[in-house]
Amino acid sequence: MPIYEYVCDTCKSRFELMRPFSRANEGASCPKCQGKAERVISRCFAVSKGEGGTTAPVAGTGSSCGSCSAGSCSGCSH
Ligand SMILES: [Zn+2]
Repeated sequence: MPIYEYVCDTCKSRFELMRPFSRANEGASCPKCQGKAERVISRCFAVSKGEGGTTAPVAGTGSSCGSCSAGSCSGCSH
């Protein structure tokens, strides 16, 4: 099974989850705070899942990396 990366909306912690491809776009629960976590694409490109299954870029906030929505850029090359 592939491994996907998620970032918690609440505490911004980043974690990886192994799950079937068919469930890749589902949200996940944060292992730390049980908050809602969004899947992120590695290499500093984050998308959010739209209503119709479309994806849209997420603007970075409070990060040194403008295109990274996570609190840290440990997963990207910046
Ligand atoms: Zn959390």
